[in-house]
Amino acid sequence: MLSLLKSIESISSCRDRGRLPRALLQAMATLFGKAAKVGIFSREAPGEAVLRQFSAPSTMNSAAAQWLEFLDDVRTVGVPRSRMIGGRRCSALLLQPSELTSEHLILACELDQADPIEHAEMIACLARIYGSQIKLLDYSELDTLTGLLNRKTFDETFERLLNASCAPPPDDIIEDLRKSQDEKAPAWLCVIDIDHFKRVNDSFGHLFGDEVLLRMGEHMRKTFRGGDRLFRFGGEEFVVVLNAPSEALAASSFDRFRTSLEKHEFPQIGQVTCSIGFTGVSSMDVSTDVVGRADEALYYAKEHGRNQVCCYERLVTDGAIVRRNTAEMRFAEDIDALFG
Ligand code: GH3
Ligand code: MG
Ligand code: MG
Repeated sequence: MLSLLKSIESISSCRDRGRLPRALLQAMATLFGKAAKVGIFSREAPGEAVLRQFSAPSTMNSAAAQWLEFLDDVRTVGVPRSRMIGGRRCSALLLQPSELTSEHLILACELDQADPIEHAEMIACLARIYGSQIKLLDYSELDTLTGLLNRKTFDETFERLLNASCAPPPDDIIEDLRKSQDEKAPAWLCVIDIDHFKRVNDSFGHLFGDEVLLRMGEHMRKTFRGGDRLFRFGGEEFVVVLNAPSEALAASSFDRFRTSLEKHEFPQIGQVTCSIGFTGVSSMDVSTDVVGRADEALYYAKEHGRNQVCCYERLVTDGAIVRRNTAEMRFAEDIDALFG
């Protein structure tokens, strides 16, 4: 009983949405014991469920294959479906989706013997606790206009973002199948600023301006990948943090967004372009330094014609700008001034 309460508490106190499915699986494993097989599937489109996390990995693969067909019927948030598969009771339900992604998560559980009604109710109950936590996180972490992560979330999670690539391995009963090689690649941060946005407001009015911002958010979600972190920083400025093995690949991701925005036709308004400045992020970095470097590259892009992507490190190497002092260098200078 105490361990169940503790695992429920770990769902309702979880501030990291990436870890929330894991906390839910932990609670399911505690509730149903070792005999149960529990999994979370991810679905972006009908018929495309993919097993994402599960408990008891050694016994899960065969069950996953049987579940896949059944999961196609699971379409209503919070309403469990049940079916006997191979003499075992299987239940599954769609979890409360976050406004942050188009991904839907399905919780599935398979037990030897179970009262079907009680089994389904227990799962629905845990799913509701999970759903409340998702709504709470959405409310506090997302920008209300675009649904992207807000500035406060950036400030609060910057360190976690940097350390994502060296996160500890998942604990032994649960595995995350989606850890890709790319997540270990260096992080890059870009600042995106809409070109001549004042003109949009001045020519069409603030409401049309807001519509552009909203569609900009949708466009970012469509163009960048699921694991990339997208923020509205304020006004018509956006920030993206992504992992890429090289500067060239990071540049091509950002430029893909720039060109796709350029080609997009905004109703009434027509074409909108943006300028992008980006920089590499190291694990020793301070958020204000990183954003400052990207801003400097952005400023250069604006000054040299707009509608382009500029990399801070490349500009420094090419002699186009002078390297800024980092927090570390400022600290060394302060020490020198004190004792030197
Ligand atoms: P530049 O190419 O140099 O970036 O030109 P710009 O016109 O975009 O210049 P700047 O970035 O200085 O202007 C941003 C404008 O964005 C100013 C402000 O009126 C407008 N803005 C800021 N927040 C919002 C918002 O939430 N909604 C709308 N509609 N407009 C906003
Ligand atoms: Mg601006
Ligand atoms: Mg602007």
